[in-house]
Order: sequence, then C-alpha cells, then structure tokens
Amino acid sequence: MSDTSAYTTRTALVTGAASGIGAASARWLDRQGIGRLILVDRDAAGLDALELSCPVQAVVGDVAEEALWTGLDARLEGLDHAVLNAGIATGGAIADHSFEDWRRVMAVNLDGAFLSLRAALGAMRRREPAAGRRGSIVLTASVTGIRPVAGIGAYGIAKAGVAHMARIAALEVAGEGIRVNAIAPGGVDTAIWESSADFRAGVERHGRDATLQAMAATTPRGRFATPDELAGEIGFLLSDAAANITGTVLVSDGGYSL
Ligand code: NAD
Repeated sequence: MSDTSAYTTRTALVTGAASGIGAASARWLDRQGIGRLILVDRDAAGLDALELSCPVQAVVGDVAEEALWTGLDARLEGLDHAVLNAGIATGGAIADHSFEDWRRVMAVNLDGAFLSLRAALGAMRRREPAAGRRGSIVLTASVTGIRPVAGIGAYGIAKAGVAHMARIAALEVAGEGIRVNAIAPGGVDTAIWESSADFRAGVERHGRDATLQAMAATTPRGRFATPDELAGEIGFLLSDAAANITGTVLVSDGGYSL
C-alpha cells in the first residue's frame, strides 16, 4: 500500500503515543522507516517502554495545556504527518454527569484535539510544499460521535466535535496541500476500557477476554479491533495512497453502526 522509501526523510507527530492506538500508530510509522517521530503522552513510562528503531523525541505532557504546544512549536518544524489521538473516556448519562467530569473530557478530547491540530497545521503551513503536498493529519474520533450511545454522553459529544473539527479544517486547508481526516473506531482492545467501572467489574467476574467478547456481541464482526488494525487504517489515511481523501471520517467499527 505504501512506498516505504517515501518516509525516510519525513517527520511525524503522534499524541497519546504511549498506549493502544497511538503506540500502534508509532510502530506503523516506524515500520515505514519514518525519519523522525515526535511522541507526546502524559505517561512517561509508557513512552519509555516503546521499542522503536527510528529517532524519537518523547515529550511528556498534557495535550490540553496550551503551553505544551507553544513549547513544542520549534520541534514541529518540517512536520509531514500527525496522528492526533490522545483521549480519555468517561461513563455516565448526561443527567448524571458531574461538571468536573464533563470539563475533563472536553479538555482532553476536544481542547487537546484543537490545540494539537492548530500546532500541526501551523507547522505544515510554514513549510514549502513538495509536489503540491505539505502534510496529512488524522484525528481519532469515535463511532460514539456518529451514532448516539446512551451512558457516555460527554465522550460522544466531544468525539462528534472532533469529527467535525477534521471536516472544517480539511475545508480550510485543502488548497494548501494539507489533508485532514478522522478515524472513528468502534470497540478496540486497549487500556482505555480500564476507566469503565462496568468493564472492571466484568473483568473481575469473567476475565478480560470474556468481558471483551461479551461487549463485542452487539458488533456484526463479533469482536473488538486490535490497535494494529486501527494503525494500518490511520496509516492509509496519512499515506500518499490517500492523496485525494480529505475531510473524511472513516468509520472502523466492524459494522457496529450499521
Ligand atoms: P489508551 O488509553 O490505550 O491510549 C490513550 C493514550 O492517551 C494513553 O497513552 C494516555 O496516557 C494518553 N493520554 C490521555 N490523556 C492525555 C493527555 N491529557 N495528554 C497526553 N496524553 C494523554 O486508549 P486508546 O483506545 O488507544 O485511545 C486512543 C484514542 O482512540 C482516544 O482518543 C480514544 O478516545 C479513541 N477511541 C478508542 C476506542 C477504543 O475502544 N479503544 C474507541 C473509539 C475511540
């Protein structure tokens, strides 16, 4: 699908890179022979544990802090690709949400997406285009931002915002050789589920595999995706093979939203 030699002179940014889909995306880019990776996460130990062969600049911080992005600006010079993926999940119906939980989900999932997108767009705009191409960006949304799911209101609302952010940004920069897309995963087997009390209770009673299997029962495919499956799809959207694709929200949910 991709010409790996194309990546050797390129720089990519991945947020939420210490775990799950972000870590798998960093590994995917590493396998393409990417020239330089800038990895952002609040989890220093998780970033340390990644075994990558390309040059890596690991940045420990909170994507929702504007100062992180101001400080990073110079390092983003020459940016080719960005996977803006850091996110947290929280459960709870809208009527039951504490304002504190609502604000935290909005801060990480929406403010963090905006701040990282603005920084990536700024860096791409400052560079000279090569063959009309300046860069490509993928934001991680969620199928819960497309199909309403009861009980995770704040998260779904934030992810609907992320998907629309990708569409609007795509429209604004399409003429400048920058592509912006989003991926909307359904269930993926990652650590994010540990933040769900129902999931933790299920794991305690039935084990992790059986709990994931039960949750995937409502998905036509019958199982959750792996982080590597998502990384391959994100990689396609980043790659030159997707040169005509911008403003798309690619649903990767095993048929869940059908
Ligand atoms: P994960 O928990 O394995 O990874 C998320 C990473 O983001 C972690 O390394 C975490 O430390 C980092 N992070 C969280 N808040 C941060 C912050 N404020 N600043 C910097 N880093 C931060 O989960 P994942 O499933 O790989 O999640 C990746 C993205 O995929 C998220 O945006 C999530 O909402 C989205 N998503 C996941 C699923 C799923 O089922 N796993 C489904 C749909 C969407």
